[in-house]
Amino acid sequence: MPVLGEVKEGKANNIYNLGLKELPLEQIVQDFYQVEVSIRNDAKCAGLAEKKYGSLQFYEDAVFICLGTGIGGATFLQGQLVKPYRNAGSEYGHMVIQKENGIPCKCGRKGCFEKYCSMQVFKEQVKRILNLPENIEAKEIIEKIKENRKNEKLEQYIESYIQDLYIGLANIVKIVEPQAVALGGSFVYYKDILYTKLLEKIEQQKYLVEMPKVVLASLGNDAGMIGAIL
Ligand SMILES: [Zn+2]
Repeated sequence: MPVLGEVKEGKANNIYNLGLKELPLEQIVQDFYQVEVSIRNDAKCAGLAEKKYGSLQFYEDAVFICLGTGIGGATFLQGQLVKPYRNAGSEYGHMVIQKENGIPCKCGRKGCFEKYCSMQVFKEQVKRILNLPENIEAKEIIEKIKENRKNEKLEQYIESYIQDLYIGLANIVKIVEPQAVALGGSFVYYKDILYTKLLEKIEQQKYLVEMPKVVLASLGNDAGMIGAIL
């Protein structure tokens, strides 16, 4: 079962988005449904699915980054998911990318990657700039962005989003040196708006940071569920 938080030994720890420190989720679900279950972090599930069947299947060293409500990750070295002893690792969303006046994060630090580049943050900023209603559907947000491509404030914001995303990715690449990075979560629906621009940025900076292939996750939103049964 894919869940939020740092999952270890049947417990979901540090679920910042829900304000929970430790939840013995495996036991709770098991008691409720009277069936054996095992839980794993949602980004790890999606990453495993991408590694086995999707965009990362031909790479031994690879990083999967899930851009959604927050930012989660899964790292593979020599074909294997990296599993630290303490927690689940690869919490790339809580890597600080902004030291000066960093936005406070629920994890307690400031300037975390996910406070700038999660899709939740992206959509909130777009809604604010374009004065869109709070309950607008994700699909409509994409349409609105396309209609407002000449809006200077929106263009500037997208530019700064891409810059922050690039900083985060370059940090991860410098440390892990993967052969490929796959970007998943609802980011995949913004291919023309964000992914193409990110590739341009990577091309511009290629003499500074030697980036590997950066691809879009190919299993979409089902990746988490596919990975949960692996
Ligand atoms: Zn954080």
